[in-house]
Amino acid sequence: MIISNITSRKIENQIEVSALIDGYKLWYRFPDHLSLALSAEPFLAASFFVASQSGTTLEVQDSKTASPRILENFKRLQCIFGTWKSDLRPFTVKVQAEEPRAASDMICSFFSGGVDGLYTLISHETEISHLIYINGFDFHVSPEEFSVNVQRLENLSAPFGKEIIPVETNFYDFDKFHGVGRHWSHGACLASVALLLQPAKCIVPTSYSYRDLRPWGTHPLTDHLWSTEVTEIVHDTADLERPEKVERIAERSQAVLDSLVVCWKYSDRNCGHCLKCIRTMIILKILGINTSAFKGSVSAEYVAKLSPPADYRPSYEDLLRFAIDKGDESMEKALQKALSSSVAKNIIREFDDKYLNQSIRSSFRYFKKNKA
Ligand SMILES: [Zn+2]
Repeated sequence: MIISNITSRKIENQIEVSALIDGYKLWYRFPDHLSLALSAEPFLAASFFVASQSGTTLEVQDSKTASPRILENFKRLQCIFGTWKSDLRPFTVKVQAEEPRAASDMICSFFSGGVDGLYTLISHETEISHLIYINGFDFHVSPEEFSVNVQRLENLSAPFGKEIIPVETNFYDFDKFHGVGRHWSHGACLASVALLLQPAKCIVPTSYSYRDLRPWGTHPLTDHLWSTEVTEIVHDTADLERPEKVERIAERSQAVLDSLVVCWKYSDRNCGHCLKCIRTMIILKILGINTSAFKGSVSAEYVAKLSPPADYRPSYEDLLRFAIDKGDESMEKALQKALSSSVAKNIIREFDDKYLNQSIRSSFRYFKKNKA
């Protein structure tokens, strides 16, 4: 696998840094007042999972160099991710090693106005100087929609006095082209953006608390291994679960809470129906907090009828613990019912798959269709 043509160019009010990775042009665009690193390590990080899939040598055919520290840590990253995902293979890297020059004095964090990013901002408010917002990483919206979102985040971050750094990239398409899977590659993508910006420190907001940790693209075991001699990349402390994070945000400011966007469906508002919206609305209901971030609220009766999918069960267990802690008995009973329903459905699904060739599901679909 060959990385070549690492280059930069100015496009209107942006600077684009790009490289050819086996002929595929991977690019990142930043506001043009920023100074960016023109080195190999951002593209080595971006290519990490693609190279891991094939196990082929990752070679930089360019005069650009890479940080000795990150090259040394590639072995550890391969070991950790290879343990979690058994089809990943070790690969060698061919590039000239050289320590990067001094970084900027920025302290950055990634930010999209959601619970994790807001909590990290609040808990490191005095330290963080810049917030990085990326289009083309886990979602891709039109330039017009991106501008609207940037303005929204600028308004949201204004009381904190932080500068938003809007970043555009085609990493999402690159990742999809190679069939890697975002839940593995997103940490490498965040690292590539941080390595281009070269702040003194870049904080990665947590997705899971220590209680719920699992193999994932961003993780306390791996995030710091993307660091170089001049840029420390750190995973934020994962001591709080999501309900407590929402509570801290609500305590900080009603205006900040009203700007919260957690939705899977939209990047600039909450639909109020997806799993992420419902999860946050349950927390707000338990806390007894009203916010204009959501139209309406959820009742315990509504929650009792839910049946969260298996991979969402840990977050509902967090909600249940939170309801118990807060003494909300009706929501406690509703969440217990939802979790029981989820477990029962999972058992039936597994039995149907293993012994009945999915005949229960086929019958259910047949009756549902005829009933309609
Ligand atoms: Zn939603």
